[in-house]
Amino acid sequence: MELNNNPIIENKIEISTLKNFDNNINKKNDCIFCFLPQKRILFENDLIIIFEDINPIAKIHLLCIPKSHIKNINSLTINDLNLLNEMKNNSLEYIMKHYNNISENNIILGFHIPPFTSVNHLHMHCLVPPFNNCFIKFCKVNCVMRYLNTVINNIQNNN
Ligand SMILES: [Zn+2]
Ligand SMILES: [Zn+2]
Repeated sequence: MELNNNPIIENKIEISTLKNFDNNINKKNDCIFCFLPQKRILFENDLIIIFEDINPIAKIHLLCIPKSHIKNINSLTINDLNLLNEMKNNSLEYIMKHYNNISENNIILGFHIPPFTSVNHLHMHCLVPPFNNCFIKFCKVNCVMRYLNTVINNIQNNN
């Protein structure tokens, strides 16, 4: 039997090619956030995913990530402003829609400052106090986190 007449093989090639064209998403093979299990995903669109932090330190503690693998805030350029706004708007919207009595002012959005990163896939922490009764954790977050608005301002000023 000729290889290229085998319908099963042809079918397989077609499927894998399609996956590679999926919105030009760049994935890194050994990255846990690039291959997040579907059951953990609370919200997704073409660019971003929102899911719960596995070790919450506040009443609400979600993470928002780009679907493409971006290492950390130092890798961001002016071309990522649209992505950052997408992360901001969808996170705020998701939290205000799914939890009661929370306004934009209650929501803290921030990133790890390298090298103090946990997972090397850019992720924005979305926090709503109160914090989980742990002052050390609270301090840790505040000292090693850069707020979203600062990240956006820095990108704009460097260009
Ligand atoms: Zn990744
Ligand atoms: Zn983190």
